Parts: sequence; structure tokens; C-alpha cells
Amino acid sequence: MLDLLITHASLPDGRTDMSVAVQQGRIVELTPGLLAPAHEVVDAQGLLLSPPFVDAHFHMDSTLSFGLPRVNQSGTLLEGIALWGELKPLLTQEAIVARALAYCDWAAARGLLAIRSHVDVCDPRLLAVEALLHVREQVRPYIDLQLVAFPQDGLLRSPAARENLVRALDMGVDVVGGIPHFERTMADGAESVRWLCELAAERGLRVDMHCDESDDPLSRHIESLAYETQRLGLQGRVVGSHLTSMHSMDNYYVSKLLPLMKEAGVAAIANPLINITLQGRHDSYPKRRGMTRVPELLAAGIPVAFGQDCAMDPWYSLGSGDMLEVAHMGLHVAQMTSQSAMRQCFDAVTTTPAAILGLEGYGLQPGARADFVLLHARDPIEAIRLRATRLQVWKAGKVIAATPAPVAQLQLPGRPASVSLLAAPAPQTPAASRH
Ligand SMILES: [Zn+2]
Repeated sequence: MLDLLITHASLPDGRTDMSVAVQQGRIVELTPGLLAPAHEVVDAQGLLLSPPFVDAHFHMDSTLSFGLPRVNQSGTLLEGIALWGELKPLLTQEAIVARALAYCDWAAARGLLAIRSHVDVCDPRLLAVEALLHVREQVRPYIDLQLVAFPQDGLLRSPAARENLVRALDMGVDVVGGIPHFERTMADGAESVRWLCELAAERGLRVDMHCDESDDPLSRHIESLAYETQRLGLQGRVVGSHLTSMHSMDNYYVSKLLPLMKEAGVAAIANPLINITLQGRHDSYPKRRGMTRVPELLAAGIPVAFGQDCAMDPWYSLGSGDMLEVAHMGLHVAQMTSQSAMRQCFDAVTTTPAAILGLEGYGLQPGARADFVLLHARDPIEAIRLRATRLQVWKAGKVIAATPAPVAQLQLPGRPASVSLLAAPAPQTPAASRH
């Protein structure tokens, strides 16, 4: 007897009418038209069953702090960093934990079940580190939270950052972070990359740096990051987050850079909502978009994920943990409008970040964890178009969140009594039945 059987599901890879059989929290079989006794049967009615969304880049220590102690007036990255500096001394562990847990509730409701969050280590009290380590344990039953030791004020520029970063890793933070473009000089930026990559190599950890988050075409720390990755044998474990300067770089230089990144096995994370909002602020017209060169990176064989980055914090007053909103913005900013490019945008918030985080048992295949989301859409492109409702979210084969299908009742002469926004005739809301 199975624990759960989902029938008539469409999958992101285009397979339809699939059955997914679950036993003890794992997928045991995935095949068309399977019928077998189960404690719970869900008819997906042709809708899309996806592995959970994954956010490869977030800041959970600042989330939901919008307006504290004041609002970012200029809307720039630098005022955001200054504002966060004003807020830091006022933070309490209880408040950080409460806000992070509230955000994780949103994430679960959105089918976002794995998040890599940077945590600022420049406060010598390491208050945020302690708080998020606590949150990581508390949400473990439903969200994989991976933490990055992030020296927000600069590894070399902030007096005790190196020591604090090592302490944070000793306390159990998972990944080595950095911010080379915020160091005082290009040389210091390169030195920070070297030091951090060596630390990661010594400890066998992954690396995820905020890298070249500026409109400066000469900000080339990604070159150092690729070089150190190659030199230290860290291939496949290193990510450059943001890489917005690449938008403004000379084309000839980029034609050399992309093969270096590919050779080093360095992945990229763009943060479309934040990049389009924060970059180009010093431009008049034309205004640069600022997001990194996503289609070109993908064409060079470099994995690219899209992150949420911020939600209601000093840098961004919007956001709600909706990775389909993130994919929607990324698709527009990068003009990834072909059918295959739109599917790549869906991958950028599911399978690609899962690989970057190194998630165990992720995906829709026998043996994988029975974590998935039933979307009110028939395929990944429709899911992005509608920022589709997450009808049901399962973790280890158990429903942890559900939202009713968005169906409007109409009162129009000669028109149907109700409408959903699905392109094809709307199926009924899938109903779970117990036997
Ligand atoms: Zn960030």
C-alpha cells in the first residue's frame, strides 16, 4: 500500500499523464498511468507537478525589516548598506528569528522549500548568525536553509570581519561568502577572493560571493574568482552572485571571461528583481538594465540560477518569496522569450539552484525525496505567465500548504459563469480523497 499516489500529472520536462507513487517520504515509482492502492490519491487533472522552488540567493537576516529604522530614499545599493548599518545595532535575536520564521511561512506557502541565505558576519556579536542557525534547525522539517558567512562591510575593510567570518563557520555556517567589489581597492578585492577561496579549500566548503555588484565595467573580480577556483581545485563548488558589472563590460573582454568561468566550473546567480531595481541608478538616459548576461552565460555552458535576494528590507520594499515572480522578471530583463529560453527561466528557480546548493534527493525521479508542488498551470511557461497558484505543496509526501485555485465568478451577459486564466479549458480544482 502506497502512502500517496498522484495521477494525471504533467511534469516540467513535458511528460504528461504521469503517476507519482510515494512511500516513506520518497518517490518509489514515476510512470504513466500507474494505478495502485494508496492511503491518499490525488488527481492532478493534467496540471503541472514540479519539484519545489529553490532560492539560491537571499538575505534572511534583514528580511521583513522594511522601514526600520527608516526607508531607503535614494533606492541605491549603497544607501541600503548604510541603512542596514543603522539597523544592525538595534537588532535583537528574537526579532530576527520571528521575521525569518514569518518569511519561511510565506516560502512554504509558495512551494519554496530550499533557500541559500547570506548572513552578515560583520557584527562582532554575531547576533544574526546565532539567530539564523536557530532558524535553520527550526525549519529543517520543511525548508532546507543553507547559510553563507557574508562580510557585508568588506572582509578587509571591516576591522574584525576575517575573525568573525571564521567564528561563524566554526559555529556551523555552511558556505564561505565575500564582497570583493566593496573592498577599498581592486587589489584588496582580489586579495579577499584569494583569502576566502583558500579558507573554503582548507575546510572543504562551497563558496558564494557577492561579486561585481556594480555598473563599473572594470569591476572584474569574477576573473579572480574563476582563477582561484581553478588554482585550488574548487570546480563545481563556487558561485559568483550578481555579476552585474558584466552587463557593462567590454564585449571583447567578456568573450575571454566566459570560457574562463566555464573552465573553472564557476556558476552564476542573477537576482533580476534587485538588479533591475538597484543598477543603473547613476545613469540618466539611456539607463542600463544592470542584470548579468544570462543568455550568453547559458550559451557558454555556465549554470545560471535566479535568486529573490531581498524581500521587504533596506534594499527592496517588495517581494514575497514567489520564485515565479523572480523567473518572470528575469525572463523580461534578459529578453528570454523563446519557448526554450522561458523553460530555462523555470529551471533557474528549480533544478539549477538545486544543483548549485548540492541538494540531496532533489527532483522528480525514483529515489528522490517526495517534495513537490502542484501548480495551477499546465507547463512551466504557463506557470511563469500566471505566477501560478501553488495548489498543494508536499514535503516528504505530506501536504504542508494548500491554496485554492484562482477562479473568478463572472456576471457578464452571454459569457461563462466563471473563468480561470489557464490557456486551455480549465480543469476542476484537484481534490484529495482518502481511502
Ligand atoms: Zn545579496
